[in-house]
Amino acid sequence: MSVKVGIPRGMYFYKYYPFIQSFLTELGAEIVPSPETTKEILDKGVLYSIDDACLPVKILHGHVYSLKDKVDCILIPRLTSVSKGEYICPKFGGLPEMVKYSVPDLPPVIDTEINLIKNRNSLIKALYKMAFTLKFRNPISINKSINKALKVHKEFKTALHEGNTPDCIIGGIPKRQCKTNARIGLIGHPYLLYDNFASMSLIKKLRERGVEVITPDMLDQHMINELCMELSKRMFWSSGKSLIGSALFVMDNSSFNGMLALTAFGCGVDSLAGEYIEKQARRYYKKPYMVLNIDEHTGDASFNTRIEAFFDLIHMS
Ligand code: SF4
Repeated sequence: MSVKVGIPRGMYFYKYYPFIQSFLTELGAEIVPSPETTKEILDKGVLYSIDDACLPVKILHGHVYSLKDKVDCILIPRLTSVSKGEYICPKFGGLPEMVKYSVPDLPPVIDTEINLIKNRNSLIKALYKMAFTLKFRNPISINKSINKALKVHKEFKTALHEGNTPDCIIGGIPKRQCKTNARIGLIGHPYLLYDNFASMSLIKKLRERGVEVITPDMLDQHMINELCMELSKRMFWSSGKSLIGSALFVMDNSSFNGMLALTAFGCGVDSLAGEYIEKQARRYYKKPYMVLNIDEHTGDASFNTRIEAFFDLIHMS
């Protein structure tokens, strides 16, 4: 019988699920993703995580709780670096421990470290390690699975660049072609933007108003890197770079009618990148810009009011 690996629908999920799903399925594992975030999942996450964790970390705890009795093990990789010379938010590195010591009665947690700070070859070593931990030891099969996963990841990125969102690609929902009457840049972390519960379906609400939404994941990484070269100091946080580079692109591009940022209360990266973006926007950006900061207490009514206000600004500008 194949090993059942639980994949929590949070944090790394919206960037790497197709890759990891393809890799582990090809090896012979059965993949069990947790369901879409719900109020119950969030409540469990709040209950079992530390008080001052950011919202995405709390949500991830809830997803782990929802999987714990359904699988043989849960995959929470220790993401230290996903790009050469850059680090990811330290909360990703500490995530396996946070979860192991907070959520009771867990099956084994697969916490293989992914650290590409020096070079990308360490990814191959890490995937071998993950496969061995799951008792898949045939190098030919591991190599085949890695190649398949890399191909799937490339296709996933192409689909993102075509304007699809990860939740739709993963769920097999085709992109709807509809007439758009505005184009906005929506800046934020993928696990906030595409988690429809956490984001209160922000992308859906914008699209229902005929807005074309461009998120950081839809932009070319080389272009983001180039735009961030103009910063006075090198940005070595991958997520901060993605937020700032995307915001600079939107602000430089006259085809956008405005920019929204969705940020998480308690996020250090957001407060740093947000401060910089806000300063630049105040100085140079002549179009509407609004920050929507959310936590587990944010209500739909106040959120919708702010979106209405943003649209009023767009119509007035
Ligand atoms: S970047 Fe911010 S939102 Fe993401 S895990 Fe780190 S603190 Fe949380």
